[in-house]
Amino acid sequence: MDLTPPSIAHVLAAQQRIAPHAVRTPASCYDAIDRAVHDAGATGTRVTVKHENLQRTGAFKVRGALNLLLQMPDDARRRGIVGYSTGNHAQALADAARQVGAPCTIVMPAAPNAVKEQAVRALGAEVVLHGERLEDASELALDMAGARGARLVSAADEPDLVAGVGTVALELLQQAPDLDVLVVPVGGGSGAAAACLVAAALAPHVRVVGVQSAASPAAHDSWRAAELLSRPNGTRAEGLAVGRGFALTQAVLRAHLADFLLVDDDEISRAQRVYLAAARTVAEGAGAAALAAVLSHPALFAGARVGVVCSGGNASEAELRRALMSTGS
Ligand SMILES: *Cc1c(COP(=O)(O)O)cnc(C)c1O
Repeated sequence: MDLTPPSIAHVLAAQQRIAPHAVRTPASCYDAIDRAVHDAGATGTRVTVKHENLQRTGAFKVRGALNLLLQMPDDARRRGIVGYSTGNHAQALADAARQVGAPCTIVMPAAPNAVKEQAVRALGAEVVLHGERLEDASELALDMAGARGARLVSAADEPDLVAGVGTVALELLQQAPDLDVLVVPVGGGSGAAAACLVAAALAPHVRVVGVQSAASPAAHDSWRAAELLSRPNGTRAEGLAVGRGFALTQAVLRAHLADFLLVDDDEISRAQRVYLAAARTVAEGAGAAALAAVLSHPALFAGARVGVVCSGGNASEAELRRALMSTGS
């Protein structure tokens, strides 16, 4: 397995490659979000929201999937891809595979988010439900890929995925060139690692801060310990529900990440409510985690121009109801 991190040249090439197939999402400021952040204790903070909830399939991951599939040789494309995912990675692979005409099989843990499962099926992918945890699904996916000669696409240890999702930070720095801090939610770490590579190359003064749920802290704990760790994986936010650290992304985070914050799931729900009320924006839990970190750690962001990646919008109705019932800021 090639675990060499992509360079900024790879990210720039990915931007060209995926441009016809992905959305250049808006980067927007909202006075009402700034007021909520101010009321939480961060004075003078200006928040810019990068709206990957408006990306194709409702999350940023399709950028990575497109970059990977558009580079696959024809014969490999014909044999197809196999992925394992709790949702957005699956939708991204299915959408990108359909765009390039490759067969796609997704193994999901049993009882997935129904919104995401339906979406994957609607995109024409084969869905196999297996096991309780993502780790169970990944084992079956590995076997299936081997049996079919298909390409297994990992959730994070994939340089082409990292280069593709790096276009989020690249676009944001183009749209908001004066940022001081960039806050990125972390599951497997591809989005945050990519943001680190882009910032280090193009805007080294920008501090990249990762955010994970305290209920699934594997990447956070791996980064703090500087070794790959497995941890309990109990968050409600599917995009952040990862139980171990990944080698490629952890190596990049170790070299470049400025800080790594934890938020709890109720703080994530409250940030989802702030998005709904203050920006009329639907964020899924993972998509709201970066804003949750600003609201929950205000002292770290006072007076700063902060970019937050709203990484996805595929929230179930139950999740939105919980967000609207949440209290506090
Ligand atoms: C996958 C995902 C994340 C985490 O991204 P990683 O690259 O795995 O760290 C965050 N938000 C959403 C909406 C996701 O789908």
